[in-house]
Amino acid sequence: MIEHQVAIVTGASRGIGNAIATRLSGEGYAIVAVGTSELSGISANFAAIRQSRLPWIYVQADVSTREGRDRILSATLEEFGRIDVLVNNAGVAPKVRMDLLETSEESFDRVLGINLKSTFFLSQAVARIMCEAKAGNPALAPKIVNISSVSAYTSSTQRGEYCISKAAISMVTQLFADRLADSGINVYEIRPGVIATDMTSVVKEKYDAMIANGLTPIRRWGQPDDVAKAVWAACSGLLDFSTGEVINVDGGFHLRRL
Ligand code: NAP
Repeated sequence: MIEHQVAIVTGASRGIGNAIATRLSGEGYAIVAVGTSELSGISANFAAIRQSRLPWIYVQADVSTREGRDRILSATLEEFGRIDVLVNNAGVAPKVRMDLLETSEESFDRVLGINLKSTFFLSQAVARIMCEAKAGNPALAPKIVNISSVSAYTSSTQRGEYCISKAAISMVTQLFADRLADSGINVYEIRPGVIATDMTSVVKEKYDAMIANGLTPIRRWGQPDDVAKAVWAACSGLLDFSTGEVINVDGGFHLRRL
């Protein structure tokens, strides 16, 4: 078994997940980066992780399928023999924004399968491994971190299925936090606001204007590393008497203002 702590980060091929993997690698974790892309096309995104000289692997897997999730776990255990952190970050927006009255079952199943079902069942499978490891070695401090969104509580009627998936991730966080507390495994929800990635690039001009007009008290786009720093805070041990906690990384979007 490897001496370094091991972090699985889903959706690490680009965007927020890539920043999380990079930061955790910089903090001394061996990394299991997961995405659906071929590694050859995204290899440059791992330059910083390579520089850290810590062990890492890329697993090409679809988190919405049982086969994909099994592959992530078997590759991790084969390569490193342990799991200390799971970051459920992989997520998609609907391919087409559609009014609530037009939302298709196909899009609903796709978005909930990738965003929600994967978070639930990967957490379940990893939690079993973490519980066993913790029982054998009480010094371990495993963590699960779920990336939700301000969409967990903000209505966008053009992408209802995305909002539903993120609201449900909040409950997944609370359920696992409750269930795993006696086993010494803390669970956190990181709730990003508007973050500059491929996902938001399609609505850049709209959000540029909204931010300039005061959408968020802190008037700037969030950067992927803003989220990565919050994930590191949750993993660092400094929040060990907190579980089921929500950390807003949103420039103050959640504040009610008069
Ligand atoms: P992004 O740039 O579009 O990246 C999405 C990542 O998820 C990619 O690495 C992608 O990998 C991976 N992914 C997608 N489907 C997958 C699947 N079926 N199996 C495995 N990996 C899959 O998105 P992002 O902005 O970084 O978003 C990351 C997370 O933050 C998402 O959960 C998103 O909902 C959440 N979030 C984002 C924002 C924002 O403003 N950007 C705000 C709040 C919350 P491949 O490309 O290799 O498939």
